[in-house]
Amino acid sequence: MAEVIGIMGGTFDPIHYGHLMAAEEAREAFDLEKVIFVPAGIPPHKVQGQVTSPRHRYLMTLLAVMANPNFAVSRVDLDRGGVTYTVDTLTDLRTEYPDATMYFITGADAILEILTWKAPDQVLALAEFIAVTRPGYGLERLAMALGPLYVPFKDRIHILEVPPMGISSTDLRRRLKTGRSIRYLVPETVATYIYSEGLYGTGERG
Ligand code: ATP
Ligand code: MG
Repeated sequence: MAEVIGIMGGTFDPIHYGHLMAAEEAREAFDLEKVIFVPAGIPPHKVQGQVTSPRHRYLMTLLAVMANPNFAVSRVDLDRGGVTYTVDTLTDLRTEYPDATMYFITGADAILEILTWKAPDQVLALAEFIAVTRPGYGLERLAMALGPLYVPFKDRIHILEVPPMGISSTDLRRRLKTGRSIRYLVPETVATYIYSEGLYGTGERG
């Protein structure tokens, strides 16, 4: 039988329990054999130079998922280099998994911006989507956000209600910079890595 896989794209700067929870909820609800986390190279929507190096983001992602046999990390976007477009991610993963049913997992904020992505119609044709709820981003706006793509693609976008976790990497970076705790928001292995490498300004105190 053909494989059914989930793909969780993100900057993961740093990875946190919101990402891991969303992936696990999607895995269970859609019977995914595995979820592949794909750290972005240079994310198009973020300011270049303000994103942590690919090596650190890759290693933190690996540390976060390695205890889970259903989770894996792919380097496709890091190895391709340059700005990451989801259309390229999905094209490369389709080559790697020619027979798999692919579900691309995103939070509500990400899917609501899909019209700003490169080739959104191709992206929606390449994979089914699982749009997980996220505090602060209402999916009742989905039809409007998708515009002309809503009617042709709505059956390929599955909304999944997940426990609301108000965690973001932006908030974690802010906490770290100001010496606040990130405990219980990220796996301990990730926190330990951040402090030992002095990431996000944690090396500047002492
Ligand atoms: P940043 O604040 O830097 O944008 P982030 O927390 O949004 O970081 P990303 O790496 O941008 O993390 O997100 C990767 C994917 O995970 C996106 O599709 C995003 O919507 C989803 N996601 C992130 N945090 C959550 C959360 N708390 N609940 C549900 N989905 C989430
Ligand atoms: Mg984000």
